[in-house]
Amino acid sequence: MSQALLILNAGSSSIKFEIFDSDGMQLARRAEGQVAGIGTAPHFTAQDAGGTQLIDTRWEYTPGSGHTTALQQLSAWLDTYLAGDPLLAVGHRVVHGGPQYSAPLRLTPQVLAELEQYIPLAPLHQPHNLAGIRAVFETLPGVPQVGCFDTAFHRSIPPVAEQFALPHEYYAAGLRRYGFHGLSYEYIAQKLPEVAPEIAGGRVVVAHLGNGASMCALHDRRSVASTMGLTALDGLPMGTRCGAIDPGVLLYLQQQRGMSAEQLEDLLYKRSGLLGLSGISNDMRTLQQSDDPRAAQAIDYFVYRIGRELGSLAAALGGLDGLVFTAGIGENSAAIRAAVCRQAAWLGIELDAVANQQGGPRITTAASRASAWVIPTDEELMIARHVLNLLRGV
Ligand code: ADP
Repeated sequence: MSQALLILNAGSSSIKFEIFDSDGMQLARRAEGQVAGIGTAPHFTAQDAGGTQLIDTRWEYTPGSGHTTALQQLSAWLDTYLAGDPLLAVGHRVVHGGPQYSAPLRLTPQVLAELEQYIPLAPLHQPHNLAGIRAVFETLPGVPQVGCFDTAFHRSIPPVAEQFALPHEYYAAGLRRYGFHGLSYEYIAQKLPEVAPEIAGGRVVVAHLGNGASMCALHDRRSVASTMGLTALDGLPMGTRCGAIDPGVLLYLQQQRGMSAEQLEDLLYKRSGLLGLSGISNDMRTLQQSDDPRAAQAIDYFVYRIGRELGSLAAALGGLDGLVFTAGIGENSAAIRAAVCRQAAWLGIELDAVANQQGGPRITTAASRASAWVIPTDEELMIARHVLNLLRGV
Protein backbone atom coordinates (compact mmCIF):
# COMPACT_ATOMS: atom_id res chain seq x y z
CA MET A 1 0.00 0.00 0.00
CA SER A 2 1.18 3.50 -0.77
CA GLN A 3 2.05 5.84 2.09
CA ALA A 4 2.10 9.62 1.94
CA LEU A 5 4.84 12.05 2.94
CA LEU A 6 4.07 15.67 3.68
CA ILE A 7 6.98 18.06 3.04
CA LEU A 8 6.66 21.51 4.62
CA ASN A 9 8.50 24.76 4.10
CA ALA A 10 7.07 27.15 6.69
CA GLY A 11 7.80 30.85 6.25
CA SER A 12 6.58 33.98 8.01
CA SER A 13 3.39 34.43 6.00
CA SER A 14 3.08 31.13 4.15
CA ILE A 15 3.39 27.38 4.52
CA LYS A 16 4.34 25.72 1.24
CA PHE A 17 3.85 21.99 1.01
CA GLU A 18 4.31 19.02 -1.27
CA ILE A 19 2.83 15.56 -0.92
CA PHE A 20 4.73 12.51 -2.13
CA ASP A 21 3.55 8.92 -2.41
CA SER A 22 6.08 6.40 -1.26
CA ASP A 23 6.08 2.79 -2.25
CA GLY A 24 9.05 1.13 -0.58
CA MET A 25 11.90 3.51 -1.45
CA GLN A 26 10.14 4.89 -4.56
CA LEU A 27 8.82 8.44 -4.40
CA ALA A 28 6.22 10.04 -6.67
CA ARG A 29 5.02 13.62 -6.42
CA ARG A 30 1.28 13.65 -5.82
CA ALA A 31 0.28 17.23 -5.02
CA GLU A 32 1.55 20.61 -3.95
CA GLY A 33 0.12 23.77 -2.50
CA GLN A 34 0.37 26.46 0.09
CA VAL A 35 -1.40 28.41 2.75
CA ALA A 36 -0.52 32.02 1.90
CA GLY A 37 -1.47 35.15 3.82
CA ILE A 38 -0.86 33.64 7.27
CA GLY A 39 -1.29 36.49 9.76
CA THR A 40 -3.46 38.59 7.44
CA ALA A 41 -5.84 36.85 5.00
CA PRO A 42 -5.21 33.09 4.89
CA HIS A 43 -5.66 31.47 1.48
CA PHE A 44 -5.25 27.72 1.03
CA THR A 45 -4.69 26.29 -2.45
CA ALA A 46 -3.45 22.95 -3.78
CA GLN A 47 -3.01 21.27 -7.16
CA ASP A 48 -2.32 17.68 -8.06
CA ALA A 49 0.75 16.66 -10.08
CA GLY A 50 -1.18 17.23 -13.31
CA GLY A 51 -2.02 20.81 -12.33
CA THR A 52 -5.69 20.19 -11.46
CA GLN A 53 -6.94 22.47 -8.68
CA LEU A 54 -7.78 20.44 -5.56
CA ILE A 55 -8.79 23.16 -3.12
CA ASP A 56 -9.10 26.94 -3.04
CA THR A 57 -10.39 28.27 0.26
CA ARG A 58 -10.03 31.27 2.56
CA TRP A 59 -10.86 31.96 6.20
CA GLU A 60 -10.76 34.88 8.56
CA TYR A 61 -7.53 35.41 10.45
CA THR A 62 -7.76 35.46 14.24
CA PRO A 63 -4.68 36.96 15.93
CA GLY A 64 -2.26 34.44 17.45
CA SER A 65 -3.54 31.45 15.49
CA GLY A 66 -1.52 31.72 12.27
CA HIS A 67 0.53 28.56 11.69
CA THR A 68 -1.62 26.31 13.89
CA THR A 69 -4.88 27.19 12.14
CA ALA A 70 -3.15 26.76 8.77
CA LEU A 71 -1.97 23.28 9.79
CA GLN A 72 -5.44 22.39 11.12
CA GLN A 73 -6.97 23.31 7.75
CA LEU A 74 -4.28 21.42 5.89
CA SER A 75 -4.61 18.30 8.02
CA ALA A 76 -8.43 18.29 7.78
CA TRP A 77 -8.13 18.49 3.99
CA LEU A 78 -5.43 15.79 3.97
CA ASP A 79 -7.77 13.43 5.82
CA THR A 80 -10.18 13.53 2.91
CA TYR A 81 -7.62 13.90 0.12
CA LEU A 82 -5.45 10.95 1.15
CA ALA A 83 -8.57 8.77 1.25
CA GLY A 84 -7.20 6.24 3.69
CA ASP A 85 -3.54 6.27 2.55
CA PRO A 86 -1.61 6.63 5.80
CA LEU A 87 0.54 9.72 6.41
CA LEU A 88 3.97 8.22 7.06
CA ALA A 89 5.77 11.36 8.20
CA VAL A 90 6.18 15.10 7.89
CA GLY A 91 9.51 16.43 6.60
CA HIS A 92 10.49 20.03 7.33
CA ARG A 93 12.93 22.37 5.67
CA VAL A 94 14.80 24.01 8.55
CA VAL A 95 17.22 26.73 7.59
CA HIS A 96 19.73 26.46 10.45
CA GLY A 97 21.08 23.39 12.20
CA GLY A 98 24.03 25.25 13.73
CA PRO A 99 27.34 23.42 14.29
CA GLN A 100 25.46 20.56 15.94
CA TYR A 101 23.25 19.09 13.23
CA SER A 102 25.06 17.77 10.17
CA ALA A 103 22.33 15.32 9.11
CA PRO A 104 18.54 15.13 9.05
CA LEU A 105 17.01 13.97 12.31
CA ARG A 106 13.79 12.95 13.99
CA LEU A 107 12.25 15.98 15.68
CA THR A 108 11.25 15.87 19.32
CA PRO A 109 10.18 18.69 21.64
CA GLN A 110 13.76 18.62 23.02
CA VAL A 111 15.35 19.03 19.57
CA LEU A 112 12.86 21.79 18.85
CA ALA A 113 14.01 23.61 22.00
CA GLU A 114 17.66 23.25 20.92
CA LEU A 115 16.91 24.61 17.45
CA GLU A 116 15.48 27.75 19.02
CA GLN A 117 19.01 28.88 19.92
CA TYR A 118 19.68 29.44 16.19
CA ILE A 119 16.79 31.88 15.72
CA PRO A 120 19.12 34.91 15.98
CA LEU A 121 21.31 33.42 13.21
CA ALA A 122 18.43 33.22 10.71
CA PRO A 123 15.80 35.66 11.96
CA LEU A 124 13.82 35.70 8.71
CA HIS A 125 13.38 31.92 8.45
CA GLN A 126 14.19 29.91 11.58
CA PRO A 127 11.34 31.15 13.84
CA HIS A 128 8.78 30.31 11.14
CA ASN A 129 10.31 26.91 10.33
CA LEU A 130 10.03 26.08 14.04
CA ALA A 131 6.48 27.43 14.23
CA GLY A 132 5.59 24.92 11.51
CA ILE A 133 7.09 22.04 13.53
CA ARG A 134 5.26 23.15 16.68
CA ALA A 135 1.98 23.37 14.78
CA VAL A 136 2.43 19.79 13.51
CA PHE A 137 3.10 18.55 17.06
CA GLU A 138 -0.26 20.10 18.02
CA THR A 139 -2.24 19.14 14.96
CA LEU A 140 -0.87 15.73 13.96
CA PRO A 141 0.43 14.25 17.22
CA GLY A 142 1.90 10.83 16.66
CA VAL A 143 3.02 11.48 13.07
CA PRO A 144 6.85 11.32 12.96
CA GLN A 145 8.55 14.59 12.02
CA VAL A 146 11.97 14.92 10.41
CA GLY A 147 14.04 18.11 10.21
CA CYS A 148 16.32 18.66 7.19
CA PHE A 149 18.78 21.53 7.51
CA ASP A 150 19.98 23.92 4.84
CA THR A 151 23.32 24.12 6.65
CA ALA A 152 23.91 20.36 7.04
CA PHE A 153 25.42 19.61 3.62
CA HIS A 154 28.16 22.19 4.24
CA ARG A 155 29.49 20.60 7.40
CA SER A 156 32.18 18.99 5.22
CA ILE A 157 33.73 22.46 4.72
CA PRO A 158 37.30 22.43 6.12
CA PRO A 159 38.06 24.56 9.19
CA VAL A 160 40.07 27.13 7.23
CA ALA A 161 37.02 27.90 5.07
CA GLU A 162 34.72 28.02 8.09
CA GLN A 163 36.51 30.71 10.05
CA PHE A 164 36.24 34.45 10.34
CA ALA A 165 39.46 36.25 11.29
CA LEU A 166 38.06 37.17 14.69
CA PRO A 167 39.43 36.15 18.12
CA HIS A 168 38.94 32.42 18.59
CA GLU A 169 36.36 32.79 21.35
CA TYR A 170 33.85 33.92 18.72
CA TYR A 171 34.40 30.77 16.64
CA ALA A 172 33.95 28.66 19.77
CA ALA A 173 30.69 30.50 20.41
CA GLY A 174 29.40 29.40 16.99
CA LEU A 175 30.28 32.41 14.81
CA ARG A 176 31.43 30.67 11.66
CA ARG A 177 30.54 30.18 8.02
CA TYR A 178 27.68 27.71 7.86
CA GLY A 179 26.56 28.08 4.25
CA PHE A 180 22.94 27.62 3.10
CA HIS A 181 20.88 26.18 0.20
CA GLY A 182 22.42 22.88 1.30
CA LEU A 183 19.39 20.79 0.30
CA SER A 184 19.61 22.20 -3.21
CA TYR A 185 23.35 21.50 -3.46
CA GLU A 186 22.92 18.01 -2.07
CA TYR A 187 20.26 17.28 -4.70
CA ILE A 188 22.57 18.55 -7.48
CA ALA A 189 25.47 16.51 -6.04
CA GLN A 190 23.30 13.38 -6.23
CA LYS A 191 22.17 14.24 -9.76
CA LEU A 192 25.66 14.92 -11.18
CA PRO A 193 26.69 11.29 -11.90
CA GLU A 194 23.53 10.84 -13.97
CA VAL A 195 23.53 14.18 -15.85
CA ALA A 196 27.21 15.10 -16.00
CA PRO A 197 29.27 12.01 -15.16
CA GLU A 198 32.47 13.47 -16.64
CA ILE A 199 32.67 16.15 -13.93
CA ALA A 200 30.84 14.47 -11.01
CA GLY A 201 34.03 13.35 -9.23
CA GLY A 202 35.87 16.59 -9.97
CA ARG A 203 35.92 20.29 -9.08
CA VAL A 204 32.47 21.77 -9.61
CA VAL A 205 30.93 25.11 -8.70
CA VAL A 206 27.14 25.16 -8.38
CA ALA A 207 25.38 28.52 -8.72
CA HIS A 208 21.97 28.46 -7.00
CA LEU A 209 20.50 31.64 -8.48
CA GLY A 210 16.99 32.29 -7.22
CA ASN A 211 15.45 35.03 -5.14
CA GLY A 212 17.99 33.89 -2.57
CA ALA A 213 21.31 33.20 -4.30
CA SER A 214 24.56 31.51 -3.36
CA MET A 215 27.34 29.40 -4.83
CA CYS A 216 28.98 26.25 -3.55
CA ALA A 217 32.27 24.57 -4.39
CA LEU A 218 31.97 20.78 -4.65
CA HIS A 219 34.98 18.51 -4.62
CA ASP A 220 33.99 14.96 -5.45
CA ARG A 221 30.38 16.00 -4.65
CA ARG A 222 31.19 17.23 -1.13
CA SER A 223 30.87 20.88 -0.17
CA VAL A 224 34.24 22.54 0.49
CA ALA A 225 33.23 26.22 0.37
CA SER A 226 30.14 28.40 0.17
CA THR A 227 29.58 32.07 -0.59
CA MET A 228 27.18 32.30 2.35
CA GLY A 229 28.40 32.70 5.89
CA LEU A 230 27.03 32.83 9.41
CA THR A 231 23.78 34.06 7.93
CA ALA A 232 22.18 33.89 4.50
CA LEU A 233 23.21 37.50 3.88
CA ASP A 234 26.79 37.03 2.64
CA GLY A 235 28.10 36.37 -0.86
CA LEU A 236 26.04 37.17 -3.94
CA PRO A 237 23.58 40.08 -4.10
CA MET A 238 20.05 38.64 -4.01
CA GLY A 239 16.50 39.83 -4.66
CA THR A 240 16.51 42.09 -1.61
CA ARG A 241 19.69 41.06 0.31
CA CYS A 242 22.95 42.89 -0.12
CA GLY A 243 25.43 40.00 -0.28
CA ALA A 244 29.10 40.62 0.56
CA ILE A 245 29.70 44.07 2.00
CA ASP A 246 32.61 45.84 3.67
CA PRO A 247 31.82 45.49 7.41
CA GLY A 248 33.02 49.10 7.75
CA VAL A 249 29.85 50.15 5.93
CA LEU A 250 27.79 48.81 8.82
CA LEU A 251 29.90 50.70 11.37
CA TYR A 252 29.51 53.87 9.29
CA LEU A 253 25.73 53.49 9.09
CA GLN A 254 25.51 52.96 12.84
CA GLN A 255 27.98 55.60 13.95
CA GLN A 256 27.49 58.35 11.36
CA ARG A 257 23.88 57.79 10.33
CA GLY A 258 22.58 56.66 13.73
CA MET A 259 20.92 53.53 12.32
CA SER A 260 19.66 51.01 14.87
CA ALA A 261 20.23 47.26 14.58
CA GLU A 262 16.62 46.84 13.44
CA GLN A 263 17.00 49.49 10.75
CA LEU A 264 20.21 47.86 9.53
CA GLU A 265 18.54 44.46 9.42
CA ASP A 266 15.68 45.89 7.39
CA LEU A 267 18.12 47.61 5.00
CA LEU A 268 20.40 44.62 4.46
CA TYR A 269 17.73 41.90 4.22
CA LYS A 270 14.78 43.66 2.64
CA ARG A 271 15.81 46.82 0.77
CA SER A 272 19.15 45.96 -0.84
CA GLY A 273 20.30 43.58 -3.59
CA LEU A 274 18.60 43.82 -6.99
CA LEU A 275 15.76 45.85 -5.49
CA GLY A 276 18.08 48.37 -3.84
CA LEU A 277 20.40 48.71 -6.82
CA SER A 278 17.63 49.10 -9.40
CA GLY A 279 15.07 50.94 -7.30
CA ILE A 280 12.57 48.97 -9.41
CA SER A 281 12.17 45.33 -8.41
CA ASN A 282 13.73 42.33 -6.70
CA ASP A 283 12.54 40.12 -9.56
CA MET A 284 15.02 39.26 -12.31
CA ARG A 285 12.34 38.87 -14.98
CA THR A 286 10.97 42.34 -14.26
CA LEU A 287 14.47 43.82 -14.46
CA GLN A 288 15.23 42.08 -17.75
CA GLN A 289 12.00 43.45 -19.22
CA SER A 290 12.73 47.01 -18.08
CA ASP A 291 14.50 49.56 -20.28
CA ASP A 292 15.50 51.66 -17.26
CA PRO A 293 19.33 51.88 -17.14
CA ARG A 294 19.26 51.17 -13.39
CA ALA A 295 17.74 47.75 -14.11
CA ALA A 296 20.63 46.97 -16.47
CA GLN A 297 23.14 48.19 -13.87
CA ALA A 298 21.63 45.93 -11.21
CA ILE A 299 21.89 42.94 -13.57
CA ASP A 300 25.49 43.87 -14.44
CA TYR A 301 26.37 43.94 -10.74
CA PHE A 302 24.72 40.53 -10.19
CA VAL A 303 26.72 38.97 -13.05
CA TYR A 304 29.95 40.71 -11.98
CA ARG A 305 29.63 39.37 -8.43
CA ILE A 306 28.91 35.83 -9.68
CA GLY A 307 32.12 36.06 -11.73
CA ARG A 308 34.14 37.25 -8.73
CA GLU A 309 32.80 34.49 -6.50
CA LEU A 310 33.36 31.90 -9.22
CA GLY A 311 37.02 32.88 -9.35
CA SER A 312 37.28 32.66 -5.58
CA LEU A 313 35.61 29.23 -5.40
CA ALA A 314 37.72 27.93 -8.31
CA ALA A 315 40.77 29.03 -6.32
CA ALA A 316 39.48 27.14 -3.28
CA LEU A 317 39.11 24.06 -5.50
CA GLY A 318 42.48 24.49 -7.20
CA GLY A 319 40.81 24.70 -10.62
CA LEU A 320 37.47 24.17 -12.27
CA ASP A 321 36.05 21.18 -14.14
CA GLY A 322 32.41 22.22 -14.26
CA LEU A 323 29.90 24.98 -13.50
CA VAL A 324 26.24 24.18 -12.79
CA PHE A 325 23.37 26.68 -12.93
CA THR A 326 20.22 26.02 -10.93
CA ALA A 327 17.13 27.65 -9.26
CA GLY A 328 14.75 30.23 -10.78
CA ILE A 329 17.29 32.46 -12.56
CA GLY A 330 19.90 29.75 -13.17
CA GLU A 331 17.38 27.36 -14.73
CA ASN A 332 15.42 29.89 -16.77
CA SER A 333 17.56 32.83 -17.82
CA ALA A 334 19.74 32.03 -20.83
CA ALA A 335 20.88 35.66 -20.84
CA ILE A 336 22.32 35.53 -17.31
CA ARG A 337 23.97 32.15 -17.98
CA ALA A 338 25.51 33.50 -21.19
CA ALA A 339 26.86 36.61 -19.42
CA VAL A 340 28.34 34.52 -16.59
CA CYS A 341 29.93 32.06 -19.03
CA ARG A 342 31.41 34.84 -21.18
CA GLN A 343 32.95 36.33 -18.06
CA ALA A 344 34.34 32.91 -17.10
CA ALA A 345 36.13 32.34 -20.43
CA TRP A 346 39.46 32.65 -18.57
CA LEU A 347 38.52 29.47 -16.63
CA GLY A 348 38.22 27.55 -19.90
CA ILE A 349 34.44 27.89 -20.35
CA GLU A 350 33.31 28.17 -23.98
CA LEU A 351 29.57 28.71 -24.30
CA ASP A 352 27.47 26.80 -26.84
CA ALA A 353 24.91 29.55 -27.53
CA VAL A 354 22.34 27.22 -29.12
CA ALA A 355 22.49 24.65 -26.31
CA ASN A 356 22.20 27.50 -23.80
CA GLN A 357 19.08 28.88 -25.50
CA GLN A 358 17.60 25.38 -25.41
CA GLY A 359 18.29 25.07 -21.70
CA GLY A 360 21.03 22.45 -21.74
CA PRO A 361 21.70 20.28 -19.85
CA ARG A 362 25.24 20.88 -21.25
CA ILE A 363 25.67 24.47 -22.46
CA THR A 364 29.36 24.50 -23.42
CA THR A 365 31.02 23.36 -26.67
CA ALA A 366 32.63 19.94 -26.96
CA ALA A 367 36.03 21.67 -27.01
CA SER A 368 35.38 23.66 -23.82
CA ARG A 369 38.10 22.90 -21.21
CA ALA A 370 35.61 23.25 -18.34
CA SER A 371 31.94 22.46 -18.97
CA ALA A 372 28.80 24.33 -17.89
CA TRP A 373 25.41 22.79 -17.21
CA VAL A 374 21.80 23.57 -16.35
CA ILE A 375 20.35 21.18 -13.77
CA PRO A 376 16.95 21.94 -12.20
CA THR A 377 17.04 21.60 -8.43
CA ASP A 378 14.43 19.83 -6.28
CA GLU A 379 14.80 20.61 -2.59
CA GLU A 380 11.46 19.02 -1.67
CA LEU A 381 12.40 15.71 -3.28
CA MET A 382 15.70 15.87 -1.39
CA ILE A 383 13.79 16.28 1.89
CA ALA A 384 11.43 13.43 0.98
CA ARG A 385 14.43 11.16 0.30
CA HIS A 386 15.96 12.08 3.65
CA VAL A 387 12.70 11.36 5.47
CA LEU A 388 12.38 7.93 3.83
CA ASN A 389 16.03 7.05 4.47
CA LEU A 390 15.75 8.02 8.12
CA LEU A 391 12.49 6.19 8.76
CA ARG A 392 13.55 3.09 6.85
CA GLY A 393 16.96 3.10 8.52
CA VAL A 394 18.89 3.32 5.22
P1 ADP B 1 13.24 31.39 -4.37
O1 ADP B 1 14.60 31.73 -3.83
O2 ADP B 1 12.16 32.29 -3.86
O3 ADP B 1 12.90 29.91 -4.35
P2 ADP B 1 13.28 31.01 -7.26
O4 ADP B 1 14.31 29.94 -7.33
O5 ADP B 1 11.87 30.67 -7.57
O6 ADP B 1 13.36 31.82 -5.91
O7 ADP B 1 13.76 32.17 -8.26
C1 ADP B 1 13.06 33.36 -8.39
C2 ADP B 1 13.81 34.26 -9.39
O8 ADP B 1 13.91 33.58 -10.65
C3 ADP B 1 13.13 35.58 -9.64
O9 ADP B 1 14.09 36.64 -9.65
C4 ADP B 1 12.55 35.40 -11.04
O10 ADP B 1 12.43 36.60 -11.75
C5 ADP B 1 13.62 34.52 -11.66
N1 ADP B 1 13.13 33.85 -12.88
C6 ADP B 1 12.19 32.89 -12.99
N2 ADP B 1 11.96 32.61 -14.30
C7 ADP B 1 12.79 33.41 -15.02
C8 ADP B 1 13.04 33.61 -16.41
N3 ADP B 1 12.40 32.93 -17.34
N4 ADP B 1 13.97 34.54 -16.76
C9 ADP B 1 14.64 35.25 -15.84
N5 ADP B 1 14.44 35.11 -14.51
C10 ADP B 1 13.54 34.21 -14.10
